[in-house]
Amino acid sequence: MVLNFEKEKLVTELKKLKPKKVLVQLPEGIKQNASEIAEIIENLNIEVVFSGETAWGGCCISPQEAKNVGADLIVHFGHAKFIDIDFPILYMEVKDELNLHPLLQKSIKHLKNFKKIGISYSIQHKHDIDKIIRFYENEEKKVILSGKKGRVKYEGHIVGCQYSGLKAIEKDVDCFVIIGNQFHSMGAAISVEKPVVLVDVYNDKIRDMDGVREKILKQRAISIQKLKDARNVGIIQEEKLGQQFGTSEYLVDKLKEQDKNVILITMNELTPDKLMNFYNIDCFIVLACPRIPIDDFAKYEKPMVTFKEALVALGMKSWDEILKIGII
Ligand code: SF4
Repeated sequence: MVLNFEKEKLVTELKKLKPKKVLVQLPEGIKQNASEIAEIIENLNIEVVFSGETAWGGCCISPQEAKNVGADLIVHFGHAKFIDIDFPILYMEVKDELNLHPLLQKSIKHLKNFKKIGISYSIQHKHDIDKIIRFYENEEKKVILSGKKGRVKYEGHIVGCQYSGLKAIEKDVDCFVIIGNQFHSMGAAISVEKPVVLVDVYNDKIRDMDGVREKILKQRAISIQKLKDARNVGIIQEEKLGQQFGTSEYLVDKLKEQDKNVILITMNELTPDKLMNFYNIDCFIVLACPRIPIDDFAKYEKPMVTFKEALVALGMKSWDEILKIGII
């Protein structure tokens, strides 16, 4: 990984915005660069405080944390803009400067049966997308970028909770190529029916995601059944402003109609230890990041479902309807 923080852009934007004090949010992989970033900001006579909280995505925005430390701007590194809120945020997308050519070449044998490929990239590779398209076109592939839908910021851009851009082009492509990491390709594999190939830039390999969809969907069906059978249900909401997937009011009435006891639980970030003592709860509905129940279910003692899955368990949507729009 060769990360480019776009120092010049950071300096230009900060000079324009003129904050007195900033709260900087860094994804885990970039926290090691905090001192370097602090130096750039402090050289502009701006005070800086780093958030020690996690920043998994552009969803992890906390204006309250900024206000608590007296910051008048949040500088969020590593993700594209995700939500609009009434607090100033400077998103610094960060480029990963790699030579992707050898890896793209390796991908060709995995794509030999496909003529039309749908491409999505994680934000660190946006600056390479023209080269990537040219590469595949030279290999006589027709390339279509996934659509700019919902919370994604650019055509072709992928985030872990929004796959409608891939679904929008699914009928026009033979397969999908994801330039990024396993997290994004796994979400794609669950969301679309066409084959998904991961160009895994972090492990320097190509991975066919065959079989992932069937395996995960089977597991999801089991969790949905657990909610149907549950007597005591906990609905979890996170305080992160970008992680509001579904509304509790809607679910509470339906759960009560079905003779279930319901409690609402709020927290800054969902982790297994925080649920341990809610031992009377049979199943949790997670209104935070939908990838937690899907990807991390094995880390939790009790079953968990997403908002969409809860709608299926409560008979408000059919499983087929959810599959059609995408389970994430
Ligand atoms: S909600 Fe989850 S998948 Fe979506 S951006 Fe945030 S961390 Fe990523």
